[in-house]
Amino acid sequence: MTRLRIRVHGVVQGVGFRPLVYRQAVRAGLTGWVRNQGGSVELEVEGSPQVIERFVASLRDAPDPASVEQIERHELSETGELGFRILRSEMAPFASGLPADLAPCADCEREIRDPEDRRFGHAFASCIACGPRFSIALGLPYDRERTTMAEFPLCAACRREYEDPSDRRYHAEPIACPECGPVLSLVDPAGRHSASGAAALSAAAKALRCGEIVALRGLGGFQLLVDARSSQAVSRLRTRKHREEKPLAVVFPTLERIREVCEVSEVEARLLNSPARPIVLMRRRTLGEIVPEVAPGLSELGVFLPSTPLLSLLLEELGFPVVCTSGNLSGEPMCLDLQEALTALGGIADRFLVHDRPIARSVDDSVMRVGRLGIESIRRARGYAPLPVARLATKKTILAVGGYLKSTVALVSNGQVLLSQYLCDLDTMRGVRLLERTIDDTLRFHDAVPEIVACDLHPDYPSSGLAERLASQFQSRLVRVQHHHAHIAAVLAEHQREDRVLGLSWDGTGLGNDGTGWGAEALLVDGAQFSRQGYLRPFALPGGDRAAREPIRSALGLLFATRPELAASFARKEFGEESGALLIQALERGIGAPRVSSIGRLFDAVAGLLGVRRTCSYEGQAALELEALAEGAPSEAGYPLSVSDSPPYIAEPTPLVDALLEDQRRGLSRARIAARFQAAVVDLGVAFADRIEAPVVVLGGGCFQNRTLKHRIFERLSSSGRQVLAARAIPTNDAGLALGQAWVASRSP
Ligand code: ZN
Ligand code: ZN
Ligand code: FE
Repeated sequence: MTRLRIRVHGVVQGVGFRPLVYRQAVRAGLTGWVRNQGGSVELEVEGSPQVIERFVASLRDAPDPASVEQIERHELSETGELGFRILRSEMAPFASGLPADLAPCADCEREIRDPEDRRFGHAFASCIACGPRFSIALGLPYDRERTTMAEFPLCAACRREYEDPSDRRYHAEPIACPECGPVLSLVDPAGRHSASGAAALSAAAKALRCGEIVALRGLGGFQLLVDARSSQAVSRLRTRKHREEKPLAVVFPTLERIREVCEVSEVEARLLNSPARPIVLMRRRTLGEIVPEVAPGLSELGVFLPSTPLLSLLLEELGFPVVCTSGNLSGEPMCLDLQEALTALGGIADRFLVHDRPIARSVDDSVMRVGRLGIESIRRARGYAPLPVARLATKKTILAVGGYLKSTVALVSNGQVLLSQYLCDLDTMRGVRLLERTIDDTLRFHDAVPEIVACDLHPDYPSSGLAERLASQFQSRLVRVQHHHAHIAAVLAEHQREDRVLGLSWDGTGLGNDGTGWGAEALLVDGAQFSRQGYLRPFALPGGDRAAREPIRSALGLLFATRPELAASFARKEFGEESGALLIQALERGIGAPRVSSIGRLFDAVAGLLGVRRTCSYEGQAALELEALAEGAPSEAGYPLSVSDSPPYIAEPTPLVDALLEDQRRGLSRARIAARFQAAVVDLGVAFADRIEAPVVVLGGGCFQNRTLKHRIFERLSSSGRQVLAARAIPTNDAGLALGQAWVASRSP
């Protein structure tokens, strides 16, 4: 007899996985238990070793929509336990908490297509297995009278279903039907109503077919839709929305249509079909009918399947893929109600397809990707928020307010961490107000008063100012957490780890303890403590913050720091005589040219030197394009980046720049130079790890959204026996900061 503790990662919650484990275990005669734990499922089984092996193998073949990615196992000594039990999940104190929104289930999809069914064509169908949850909830416990569906009294037929224990709509809070539910209508930009119900849906479809832009009031806010097969239509959307190049997601009528454009793996297919129905970033095989304007310069395409009955009916009527992007002004949060949308989107959309079900809070689409290391989250919102993400060994109530970009909020209560949906960046007033509202919402829902408020070290982030006010309002302790420390802590929190680790925390920039910009850090992290062991020699960014949008400034800064004799002529060539001279002056005097150590800016600098990208129209564009370019090249030896042999370990960029310029002179292709550069950054990670003793290495920060970088470092370090941890269900970018801040705060004395 043996006993095994097993932890199963993947899409395993809210998909009938625990009942499956139960049935298999009972059938095999194994004893033990199963429960949800954090984002995974944990179980213990006891029985004969051969039977356990067969049982474990059977878990890997869990049917849709479950998807098993990884199974961790630990041997235990047997206990003689009798029977097999499904335990209440470890998140039990939040058992009454808010569930996430769920895409339509197969039964509801069938009903809305069945002319004989009373829900035929009903855009708001739902049942106990599917439908809106988080986006309509107004309070706890989650009952119909505390949702925005309270305004729609159930008709007699719906009430019978709601009250019948044998019906699949028994106590399903959001249910409705064409008789008693919300109604669709079509409105023009002046607010004039032109059609209702099925006629509104058909008219919107007709408008899309003609190349018009339709603003759709979806589940968690407005979205903008346009025919993905029309260059003209997509370009018009881009011009009107001032979104020049940022990739747009495409919703397809069926999985088969996605297969025409992308190679869809089994895991990707399950993820696309999962109840969360996220946007999945996939390598595209061919563009097919999708026009290149959808994702210029990139090899990945964000695709998804209809996530609501409304989108499902619309896509069925259309029969072709449609661009679907958040309905907002560039950089602002999504619009929620019609008045707001008419004001903000009146100049963008030609029609508004709306409904009268109030939206309780904005919930954007989630974005995921399946890499060689498994599923990773890029944006965590619809379908995942507000589910708990981790457990912490603390009794304290902690509120963490995140950073500046990709704002999110974390609440620790009863040892569990809830992470809000992705909100938006904080560079507009509306963005800051959304953050404030989300904090209120989160505290109110969980009846929580924070004892600690955690924020970034940067005093000028609006989130930090808000944290100061909240701390004095609640008389709670304020804990400021260094940005890159928080990035590493987020990964540790997700993996439920507390050991001392080496963190490679690589991103754009964040404020360091010494007041300079950091972002190429090798940190030894030990709970609330960390020490900076290694980094890239800083270079100055002429124009400061503007450099994040203009890689060409990073290029000039890097050149000035490494080959100053070449900087003046480069500045003249790129910026013109006058501006070039001013920038050089700024660099020489060190005024208006902050020094940063940043892998993100290093990527920018190289993209600028190579002429891949001079200015960015969205965050991270240069790095993404450099990655896409390098992908096309054979693997290359990296450029030299010498790292000192005694602490602090400082990487010198000069040999890299020299070798790169030499390759450029020799006429080596940009793709090969990009590949050699990327290999150098991988080598840098290995060099840090070789010098700084630690059995566990954690990869954190936005740069690890680059899959080549992440995989190569992962492979190199794990092949030498180190354990490597990276973000999975929580984005590695700044959307994970709140979780990391909460983790650090929970461990601070
Ligand atoms: Zn359903
Ligand atoms: Zn009804
Ligand atoms: Fe960051």
